[in-house]
Amino acid sequence: MKPYKPKVKAPDPHLIASTNEILRQNALTTVCEESACPNRTECYHRGTATFMILGDTCTRACRFCNVKTGRGAPPDPSEPERVARAVKELGLKYVVITSVDRDDLDDYGSAQFAAVVRSIRKAAPEAKIELLTPDFRGNREALDRVIAAAPDKLAHNEETVRRLSPLIRPQSDYDRSLTVLRYYADHFVGPVKSSLMVGLGETETELIETMEELYNAGVRQLTIGQYLQPTPKHAPVCRYYPPEYFESLGEAARGIGFEAVASGVLVRSSYYADRL
Ligand code: SF4
Ligand code: SF4
Repeated sequence: MKPYKPKVKAPDPHLIASTNEILRQNALTTVCEESACPNRTECYHRGTATFMILGDTCTRACRFCNVKTGRGAPPDPSEPERVARAVKELGLKYVVITSVDRDDLDDYGSAQFAAVVRSIRKAAPEAKIELLTPDFRGNREALDRVIAAAPDKLAHNEETVRRLSPLIRPQSDYDRSLTVLRYYADHFVGPVKSSLMVGLGETETELIETMEELYNAGVRQLTIGQYLQPTPKHAPVCRYYPPEYFESLGEAARGIGFEAVASGVLVRSSYYADRL
């Protein structure tokens, strides 16, 4: 079984190097660089990047994710300002802020998300901000805190279908994620987004059911992309889908009612985030 190799824009080494230099100076981590995302050139050209806050160590161990598991360091009070400075220096127009899960913190990391929004608003008021949050274990105070920070968009990823969720995200919960998304949709004025990976062994019927459940929870923006196995220890890829399949999934999502959909082999939750 071979993966389909989509065409991607040739990497622009100067753009990537200059971006990395600013990230290094501000001691920051981006999902773009950590995952060596193939969309970097395109995203950086458009002024988009995804920052990872609250450290590089997650309290959970999803079977598709290459982030290390353990107890992280306490939130760094200088981080919000460093992120804001990098957003300004890079001239970013659209920023996605995400984090590892911090089930070890009393506020699950929600205050750091809010502080980052405040700092970016001050340093780079023209930048749009999307928060791609953990589930905060469904804690209402944490959810209210990120809603009150008033980002431009809120997102939380369901990742996979109901049957596979306990295998793929053992410390997370399919219904808890739906509840978080529903809470965002009910209490946040901006759009709510979620993301799915395919190729983990799901059926098309299961995918459609999940899309319908997300829609019924109030999610109006959806991204769908091919799962790729980060290392041989991670969940295997059960199937590589061709581009036409992603087109038909995108059509199905639009048919359900989603207002903005990105579906494609290389689509990641933050891909085309500025255009959805
Ligand atoms: Fe970064 Fe997301 Fe774009 Fe990849 S798709 S380069 S992670 S913003
Ligand atoms: Fe990776 Fe997020 Fe799962 Fe942590 S919760 S292991 S960062 S996908």
